[in-house]
Amino acid sequence: MADKITDHADAEDRALMPPPQATHSSSSIRVHSSSSRMSAASSASGQFSETTKLETRRLAGNGCWSCETTRVDICHVIAKEDSQTEVWEQAGLFKFQYKTAANAIPLCGACHAEFDCAIDPGYVFFPDDLQYFIDYETKDRQRRQRCAAETGQPVERKAPTATEYLAYQMNANLVPSDAVGGLYRRVFLKRFLHGGTVVGLEHLFSTPRQWHGAPMASIRRAFAILGSPRSYIIDPSTRHALEKLRELYFGDESPSPFDVPLRELYRSDAIKSANKRHPEERDEGASERAKRARGLEVGQSMGLIEDAGSTNRCAAHPDWVLGPHVTTNEVVRLYGPLFSPT
Ligand SMILES: [Zn+2]
Repeated sequence: MADKITDHADAEDRALMPPPQATHSSSSIRVHSSSSRMSAASSASGQFSETTKLETRRLAGNGCWSCETTRVDICHVIAKEDSQTEVWEQAGLFKFQYKTAANAIPLCGACHAEFDCAIDPGYVFFPDDLQYFIDYETKDRQRRQRCAAETGQPVERKAPTATEYLAYQMNANLVPSDAVGGLYRRVFLKRFLHGGTVVGLEHLFSTPRQWHGAPMASIRRAFAILGSPRSYIIDPSTRHALEKLRELYFGDESPSPFDVPLRELYRSDAIKSANKRHPEERDEGASERAKRARGLEVGQSMGLIEDAGSTNRCAAHPDWVLGPHVTTNEVVRLYGPLFSPT
């Protein structure tokens, strides 16, 4: 069904798509809101055609898909400015059209801002059944290996489409037969709804919800939070499933979409570094003892760590450049040249 929808949207976009418009439609949709905290991703939402916006509203509703308020932007999940897009395409994971409803979701200004806050996202969504995606990739890896062994040629990866995920969930009776898409989890990593004043609001809107779009787009956005301490808000099994999926898609066992010489550069550096270590450090216990001893020695010489026998109780802060053990002569030697006429 979702394929029909996507195909339908694609066909409409090809046939009817007007040139990108900066003007607002006559509906309540705002093209995009401005916020200094948003990434450049937000500004791309104005490039959806009016047809795609209508199709997205038909499939995902008129309200914010996240918090169900009424004033919404039709937002890109993957923005044209996303510099990772090429990597995901090369990995065979992105095969949807970026200007269609497959890449669109209605969000209110607050949810949009937190979704697009690239430096510290406060909102993400991703498929509710991550195990389906793990199993899919595991089976596809076996297929690729088998075919590559037979043909001697690399085999292109398959990634779950919206239609496949929906069909799986229908067969498992997780969604009804008229569902527009599989179930997705809504995750609030900050308490921002209504300014965080209503306790439990985020919990209310965290129930899984159908979404019609490309699941890989939402997974790409979910991976972005794995580098955030806020990812620990998510339950461990879900977080581990996201990490497992990232490893399957981009890890050592995966066909590398990255610049191979660049990856080899750091790997060979790591090997050289390991070989250079002093023999005593190859023993793990000795290594730790040696590191601690060296750290203590350096710290003491810089006045950052008190000598064990010292009676000076004024502990220096690590950021304190002119520590208690620095002499006037050392200060002159360090900083004098800065004041010399050149
Ligand atoms: Zn919202």
